[in-house]
Formats: sequence, structure tokens, C-alpha cells
Amino acid sequence: MTVYLVGAGPGDPALLTLRGAEVLAGADVVIYDRLSVTSLLDLAPPDAERISVGKQPGGPRTSQEDINALLVARGRAGQQVVRLKGGDPFVFARGGEEAAALAAAGIAFEVVPGITSAVAVPAYAGIPVTMRYSSTSFTVVTGHEDPAKGEGSVNWEAVSALGGTVVVLMGAARCRTICDRLIAAGMAPDTPAAAVQWGTRPHQRTLRATLSTLADTDPQPPATIVIGEVAAADLAWFENRPLFGRRIVVTRAQPQAAALAAELLRRGAEAIELPSIAFEPPGDLDRLVRAADEVGRYDWVIFTSPTGVARLFEHLRDARSLGGVRVAAIGPGTAAALADRNVVADLIPEQYVAEALLEALSGEVGPDGAGRVLIPRAETARDVLPDGLAAMGWDVDVVPAYRTVAPGADPAAAALLADAEVITFTSSSTVNNFVDMYGADAVPEVVASIGPITTTAARDRGLEVAIEATEHTMPGLIAALEAFFTR
Ligand code: SAH
Repeated sequence: MTVYLVGAGPGDPALLTLRGAEVLAGADVVIYDRLSVTSLLDLAPPDAERISVGKQPGGPRTSQEDINALLVARGRAGQQVVRLKGGDPFVFARGGEEAAALAAAGIAFEVVPGITSAVAVPAYAGIPVTMRYSSTSFTVVTGHEDPAKGEGSVNWEAVSALGGTVVVLMGAARCRTICDRLIAAGMAPDTPAAAVQWGTRPHQRTLRATLSTLADTDPQPPATIVIGEVAAADLAWFENRPLFGRRIVVTRAQPQAAALAAELLRRGAEAIELPSIAFEPPGDLDRLVRAADEVGRYDWVIFTSPTGVARLFEHLRDARSLGGVRVAAIGPGTAAALADRNVVADLIPEQYVAEALLEALSGEVGPDGAGRVLIPRAETARDVLPDGLAAMGWDVDVVPAYRTVAPGADPAAAALLADAEVITFTSSSTVNNFVDMYGADAVPEVVASIGPITTTAARDRGLEVAIEATEHTMPGLIAALEAFFTR
């Protein structure tokens, strides 16, 4: 088997290459560094072994020799080994040494290049490393001149003489020395300079100064330092995104939590997934199976959640049995779940709550009265819809399709919640379970609710609701968050 030396990119998980994702998906073991983004580890199969060879500051550290030996041993054992490294594996990452060790041991390896922070971190700060005419080269140098660590010494005079952009990696701690050396070598003290901390991550921070003042900004690692005319460019885009830097807790069940988290991430937020509900089969699964079998006997099937759709369809043996049945969805999320299964909802109310759905359906009553309706939904739910339909003369079958339960509390919750700023609640159960699991005091300052029912549940638990979505959908909730933070 093969050992893959994979570049993970500078931090934003979306900057992993397609090849990197492909080899991770087939990994038996992933050997990763301290700064690795944990969501990338999730791309490996659940049962893949994950080994951290992180160099914790001040903590235990795996020597390079031990890492090389581990790669050789696992490769020799016939495993598919992914050695995940920040940025590019061959840029100041000792990937060369690892490849040499594998070559010497006769073990097949493949190098999967990554996006290096030397280029991507400035890009995320709105700094192009070259500019036509003004910056015709960029030199990437190490700021970590410790021969014991295997770094050679940098010829700062030559770097300065080149006149292009200078990108310094591992230079935060020695920033003052580096800047002084460049000034001594003849570079103008007022040359623009920038340090980008935690580039491409939700807590990216760009410190802008000049060569003579950069050290005063006290850059902290990990930082990429850019020196040269281009460092004056302020084409900021990443740090301008509407939810940039906001730490937002997502309480939805998986896998929906991950989908919402991805949307938040795309808007610059840091999403903290702490699901406070999970789905389980209903107590009486036979009823659902029977309802799915006999679905053709209903005039309407009304879905009030994407999970209800998923569960009924799981037991639908023949899609044609839905042929003569009309289908209603409470909102666009539920309609999308139907569309995923090639069913177009006949009815979606204008407002995505049970009351509006009931009103919309009341217009559907035929001259000879109402027909039979199936509502596959959560085991416990409000009775507005079935009661209302029954009052209108419909023959209503409410069939529990799933049960929402509180998952086990996350042991890391306290740490994750400590500096979270916002929490999103997408149903009454997410509110109630969350407060039961972690206590009302653990709820972050800004509470965002998907709609009035959820808001009432939150207020009943003593929470103040700062944000309520006007449109009761995920996009509606995201829009409300954006509006709140950009106002
Ligand atoms: N192989 C990596 C570099 C490893 S050296 C690459 O190609 O990117 C580690 C240095 O990279 C850090 O000291 C810092 O200078 C830079 N770096 C890595 N990740 C960074 C990030 N998210 N933001 C800013 N600089 C980063």
C-alpha cells in the first residue's frame, strides 16, 4: 500500500485538494499535526485510526525520526497511510525528509501538494503576492533560523536586494529581528508590511504596519508576514464577510447541523456543532411501515419536516403508490427533501407554520367534504394541524415517523460554549433539550430563533431572544443573523 504525504492547505477546510479528499476517504490511518483542522479528519472513514503527532508548545512532542519510523512501519504493514500536513507538504514542512525515509525503506509513496499558506494566507487578507510592475517576484523564507531544527540561515541581504515581495513563515516570534535585518540590509523602513494571524480561519486577523513598526503590532503565531509594496494593498474580502469571526452554536440534529454549519462557515462564522436533538425510530414502527404500504389510499400526505419525508420514504416500497396522492410540505426545507426524492409538493403555505398550512388546506376541501389525510411526523408535536383538519371533517391519520430525543451531552461543551457569541435554535425541542443538557447559564448571549414557536419556547425557559427569522427556514435564519450583525 501507499503512504500519501498530503497537504491540508492553510486552515480553511475547503482548501484541501480533490486528491487529498480522495486519499483521506480511503485511509486506514491518518497521521496529523497539531494545527490540523478537525473537520478534515472527518473525511477519513469513521473506523480509520487517527494519530496526532502534534508538537504541543511545551508539551510532549513526537520527534521527526519517530514520525518517519511510524510512516515506514505503517506503510510496511500494508496500510493506506495519510500523512496530513499543513499547507504544502514540501514547503517548510519536512515532507522531504519523510519522503526520503520512505524511499530509503522501499515503501511506495505519493505526494499530494497542498495550497501553501505563503500564498493563500496573504490572499485571504486581500494581499496579492505579486503585482504587475511593482512586485515581480516573491521570496518565501523561514523566520525560524534554528540550525538545530534543520533550518539553514537566510541571506537577508540577498532577499532585500531582490526588491520583490518577501513572505516570512514561522517568523512571528522573531519579527523584530527579521525586520531589523532587512532594514540593515537596505530595505526602506517605511516599506509596507503585514502580519496575518490564523489566516483562512474564522479568527483570521491582519495587522498592517511598515517594516519599522510591524514588530510593535506583536504578531502571534501562526502568522504569515508579508513585506513589500503589495502589503499596502487592502483588497479585504474574507474579513468583510457578514458573519466573519462570529462564533455561532448550532443545535440542530445531524446531519442537518453540518449543513447549517457549512452555510455559516461560508459567511465567515465559526460554527460550533452541539446538536441538542437526535432522531430515533418511533416506538411503533409497524404503524409507519403499514402507512407507507397503504399510502395510495390517502387523498393527501402532509409532511411537516424533512425527517418525516426521509422516514416515510425509507419504507415506501414502490414510488408509484404515491401516484394519485397529493402532497403538502410545511416549508421549502421539507419540499426540498421531497424534491430530492423526485416528488414535487402540491402545496406549500405562504408561512411555514402549522396554522398557515391548515389555512391553505382548508381551501382544498372538495364539494363532497374532505378526504383522508396521512401526517407522518415526530412522535410528539403540536396538534394544531390534525385537530384543525379533523374539525373541517377530514379523516386524519397521524403516524409517528420518528422520535426526537436528547443526545448525550458533549463533554467538550463547556469549553466550546465559553467564548461562543450566538446560539441558533431551530425548534422548541432544540431549546428545551439544550437548556436541560447544559443549563440556561451556558446559553450564549445572543439567541437566534427560527420562528415564533421556537421563540416562545426560549422565553419560557427564561432566555432573551435577540433574533427571530422572518422566513422560518434555514436561509431565513441565516439572513436574520446577517441582518443583525451588519446593522
Ligand atoms: N507547509 C506549510 C508551512 C509550515 S511552516 C505551508 O505550506 O503553508 C508553519 C508556518 O506557516 C507558520 O509558522 C506560519 O508562518 C505559516 N502558517 C501556517 N498556517 C497558517 C495560518 N493559518 N495563518 C498564517 N500563517 C500560517
